[in-house]
Amino acid sequence: MAKIDPDRYGVNTLAVRAGRQPTGEGEHSEPMFLTSSFVFKDAAQAAARFAEDEPGNIYSRFTNPTVRAFEQRLAAMEGAERCIATSSGMGAILSTCLGLLQAGDHIVSSRSVFGTTVNLFNKILSKFDIGISYVGLSDYTAWEEAITEKTRLLYLETPSNPLTEIADIQRLADIARRHNCLLVVDNCFCTPVLQQPFLHGADVVIHSATKYLDGQGRCVGGAVLGSNELLGENVFNVLKYGGPTMSPFNAWVFLKGLETLSLRMQAHSRNAAQVAEWLTGRPGIEKVYYPGLADHPQHELAQRQQKDFGGIVSFVVNGGKETAWRLIDNTELFSITANLGDSKSTITHPATTTHNRLTDEEKERSAIAPGLIRLSIGHEDVADLKNDLDGALAKALN
Ligand SMILES: *Cc1c(COP(=O)(O)O)cnc(C)c1O
Repeated sequence: MAKIDPDRYGVNTLAVRAGRQPTGEGEHSEPMFLTSSFVFKDAAQAAARFAEDEPGNIYSRFTNPTVRAFEQRLAAMEGAERCIATSSGMGAILSTCLGLLQAGDHIVSSRSVFGTTVNLFNKILSKFDIGISYVGLSDYTAWEEAITEKTRLLYLETPSNPLTEIADIQRLADIARRHNCLLVVDNCFCTPVLQQPFLHGADVVIHSATKYLDGQGRCVGGAVLGSNELLGENVFNVLKYGGPTMSPFNAWVFLKGLETLSLRMQAHSRNAAQVAEWLTGRPGIEKVYYPGLADHPQHELAQRQQKDFGGIVSFVVNGGKETAWRLIDNTELFSITANLGDSKSTITHPATTTHNRLTDEEKERSAIAPGLIRLSIGHEDVADLKNDLDGALAKALN
């Protein structure tokens, strides 16, 4: 079978064909190599592998054929030279920071990043004298002003969670370039099917594979993507010597997940758009956040930068926390869970869960209103999701 050249094919072809490494048994689906170590044909070969005189597998903490297949497939889809799979999305962020930073360095991060990422920066990296400043995601002046001589990374997610604010990646890449910094984009919400940050100048792309890449809420995993030069030694050595490795079992689940990613992202986006439109202007609903709505502040940027608008819809219900909680508790289909990107639709109250560590003042500044609810729209019938929300809303407002 010919090796798949990523430059020749579209993302859908790469999603099902890239990274295949047939064993000679004639298998059509990708095999799963559940093995911790690999055997050598003799002592000399073992010595050559350890001395890195001969390429090949030694131990699954650093290389495994199933993990490699997932890495090659995702790299092809993102348009990256290199992908390093990790034990979780947080493992990917930690490995990136440990690999690319040293004591004394400084990160400028969007304020609207995943809560655990903020904890990692504030509570762990800070112990190793890595400084951190936060700015508004689309406040480009603030990004530029926050950069110091020590700044090495600019870090963001777009669209943001839960308000779906969108940053112009190319504009931030230009700022990063001017100041000799690396631009790191967590592409979890869009996946390479909807957005390819490398085309807009990003240096590193991060994934929590746990979300849409799996797509059915089964496995925890992550990935770091970028050039060989940037990641090859630096980030790969964190895995090799530090150990936040993806298991081959999880890699196989994600590998198969990638095959349907494009279809799923289209369906998530289509269903979410319908729910967002239906919520808009409904009695009791104060505001709806979805990049596909014409009144979203970065709707045009989203159209330019993304292929579609994704599966996350947030809205504010009148009546604050009490009403929001009643609405959540009165849904029958939506799962009350903080996970997202699942085929099952989920519902979350950010102010008391994912964003509970913020002070009231910070919540107000970040627009995490007491009545804010986040939906991750799955693959149920949209009519059933609307009915469920309709019934819950009626009970909540009573
Ligand atoms: C979930 C998530 C992470 C962390 O990923 P885990 O796989 O849970 O470690 C990072 N970034 C974003 C945007 C996420 O949604």
